[in-house]
Amino acid sequence: MTRKLLMHVGPTTIDLDVLLAGVKESSGFTSEDFVYASKNVLYSMEEIVKAPPNSQSLIIPGSGTAAMESCVSLLNKDDKVLVISNGVFGNRWTSIFSRYPLKVETLESRPGEVVPLEEIAQKVEKNRYKMITFTHVETSTGVRLNIGDYAKAVRDFVDIIVVDGVSSIGGELVDMSGWGVDVYLTASQKALGAPPGAGLLVISPRALEVINHENLGGYFLNLSNWLPVMKSLKENVGGYFSTLPVHLIFSLSKAMELIRHEGVEKRIKRHELVARAIRGGVEGMGLEIVAKKGLYSNTVTGVLLKKADPVRLLEEIQSENVELAPGVHPALKGKYFRIGHMGWVTPNDAIATIGAIERTLRRLGEDIRIGEGVMAVQEILGA
Ligand code: PMP
Repeated sequence: MTRKLLMHVGPTTIDLDVLLAGVKESSGFTSEDFVYASKNVLYSMEEIVKAPPNSQSLIIPGSGTAAMESCVSLLNKDDKVLVISNGVFGNRWTSIFSRYPLKVETLESRPGEVVPLEEIAQKVEKNRYKMITFTHVETSTGVRLNIGDYAKAVRDFVDIIVVDGVSSIGGELVDMSGWGVDVYLTASQKALGAPPGAGLLVISPRALEVINHENLGGYFLNLSNWLPVMKSLKENVGGYFSTLPVHLIFSLSKAMELIRHEGVEKRIKRHELVARAIRGGVEGMGLEIVAKKGLYSNTVTGVLLKKADPVRLLEEIQSENVELAPGVHPALKGKYFRIGHMGWVTPNDAIATIGAIERTLRRLGEDIRIGEGVMAVQEILGA
């Protein structure tokens, strides 16, 4: 069997130890080992995002979207919400909130760009919003928002700041406490490098206070139903509201152990180096990156093609045992593809990926400088 390189935006390549940690028989939701694993995941999440004291983290069965929709539990009827969208996943907030009796406004950027800070500052100074949502790394384009600056600019004007960290937590610097963010959320299958199946949230004490009985959240995703279980798990006692993905949590706990062993700062530096190498490779072979300069992320790179069909590239490159992610931004349909570089990704993966892209694109007749991408990666990694 040939080993495959999964350079996708999630699920990403999973470390075998992480995967095997989930292979356990006879573990109920009150088992000592399961309670320990859950507790480890909850405390680790708070550590990774640098949560303020007395925050509460949660594991919600489902995915990143489940974690997003659970934030409706922080809202009441007719609350005003401002969505800052830099692409498809920013717009997902608008789609979610539009299902509820809320007053939703959206500021949206062009693909590859971000909504300017001044535009948002003007808006929040004029209107009081109960919640504002940001996307740290917009996975559809690979654009990273400088959450520190944006959160600080709106902090005094909005009640709750929510950040979708689905493509950032575990691969980008997050300083929830220093930046004054109230909710940071992610999913198990992204830069934390575990299998899919859970959404994860960290909630500040200020945001915990607004989860009241009249909140608009439904039943399954209502955080008021999950909070008692999560508080109890943090204190080493199992609890039940609805069945948690027990085996996935064992895997997640192992991932947290490996993250702690590597060190969060070192892990971010590794992501930063691999991302730089990938971008160097893309530009070295003569292609353009979707994100504008200065907005690059550590975890996702969107690549524009000149004439080759990105769908063909994704099909063809699988014969090289590399899997990449399709472009999903409707404004760039048929023009780009994405490289995910998060989780357990290594510098060697950058060389292999750029090499396979070069070979495949040449076969597809794209106008590239074969070999120069790999050379650029080498220059960056060897510097
Ligand atoms: N937000 C972002 C930034 C994402 O990248 C994704 C998934 N790619 C989601 C939300 C939704 O997560 P999920 O697919 O796990 O529901």
